[in-house]
Amino acid sequence: MGTFLKVVILLLAVWAVGLLLRRALRQARGSDDADNTRQGRLDSSAMVACAHCRLYVPRQEAFVRSGYYYCSSEHARATKRR
Ligand SMILES: [Zn+2]
Repeated sequence: MGTFLKVVILLLAVWAVGLLLRRALRQARGSDDADNTRQGRLDSSAMVACAHCRLYVPRQEAFVRSGYYYCSSEHARATKRR
């Protein structure tokens, strides 16, 4: 009977720890989402459309010319020539 009780207590402990871990993970993920939303404008991995060919490129790889994003320096120049 002693062994059975020990197993039951162990199972309860594992279940409780699992429950706490899942709740902590959900809270951590929730706060991450909040941070991402708050810093959304600064997110360098955001996609922007090329003003010339409408191709989507990561903002950090885009060329910026007079307020517009371009997929390449060629397109930035091509639009400027118009
Ligand atoms: Zn382009």
